[in-house]
Amino acid sequence: MKSENLSLMNSFSHLYVERDILYHPRTERFLSFFPKAEVIVIENYKDVFDRARQNYNMQFLSQKLILAKKRGTLIYEGSKACEDFGNEWFYYCTNALNCIFNCEYCWLKGMYNSANLVVFVNLEDFFAETEKLLQTHPVYLCLSYETDLVPLENITGMIREWGEYTLSHPDLSIEIRTKSGLKIWDRVPVSDRIIPSFTLSPDPVIHRYEHKTPSLDDRLAAAKQAVDRGFKVRLSFDPMFSVAGWQQAYTEMIDRTMHVLHAENIRDINIGTFRLSKEYMRQMRKRFPDSAVVQYPYVLKEGFYQYPDGKKNMMEEYVENILVKYIDKSRIYRLEEQ
Ligand code: SF4
Repeated sequence: MKSENLSLMNSFSHLYVERDILYHPRTERFLSFFPKAEVIVIENYKDVFDRARQNYNMQFLSQKLILAKKRGTLIYEGSKACEDFGNEWFYYCTNALNCIFNCEYCWLKGMYNSANLVVFVNLEDFFAETEKLLQTHPVYLCLSYETDLVPLENITGMIREWGEYTLSHPDLSIEIRTKSGLKIWDRVPVSDRIIPSFTLSPDPVIHRYEHKTPSLDDRLAAAKQAVDRGFKVRLSFDPMFSVAGWQQAYTEMIDRTMHVLHAENIRDINIGTFRLSKEYMRQMRKRFPDSAVVQYPYVLKEGFYQYPDGKKNMMEEYVENILVKYIDKSRIYRLEEQ
């Protein structure tokens, strides 16, 4: 595998840094990883990130890193379009915006005008806001939400910091979702309340749609590291796509996954076919006229573009029927079954 970390180090020629956090210890740490990059001081990340008339596709070819301070709301209530795994107090936070991976179907491409990557360095403020919520009820918090935090971990160290914070707050559980093959899990404290969550796709889907992401084998190797360290991992077969030969592709992926990880090390699994909100799809269809996955004639149902019910159910049931040979149905989640 081409090292995700190496490609990350090489990918930023320019770093934009907000003046407010120029001397923040985390900023200084991040900057030390990019000694050759040109540093441009800005007042507010939105001046660069939200600028009008940006060429999204060109930007992706030369993604810039923006270091900023997150202001205003830091922790958000989870969306109904996302699996909550039965957690009543489901929240997410955005330690970063955008992603070094380039999944063609990624909803962030419909959400933001910029392909640049923003990392918020003021983790202490995220901790303080989490603490306020914890005073009233338990919190289940998804960290890797409008980004994939894992490939950034060698530079940010944020997952390790969140892990240590979680250990000292017994009513907090965190989920870290990733497609990364980076083996960071020996640096994260092991706890039932810290949930490494691996999004897995068959290689034909990865090759077609999940550009710049690691292969299935590399993702499984990272998940295996987490398992060997003592974590129970979550697996996400979501989003699933109806590529040619999808039955065989998904069957082989599940067999390989279970062979490497073993069912007893898997906490739970969620499955779901591709869906995307109407607003994001409208933007993405304008932006990516040649993308087969974006231009596919999905049906619009309750504000989300998705496969027609018959196809969606057939695909999800097919995968569920394979999974129940390995793990109990109670540990398999499908969004509409909640
Ligand atoms: S890994 Fe997730 S956040 Fe990153 S591009 Fe793919 S879908 Fe988007």
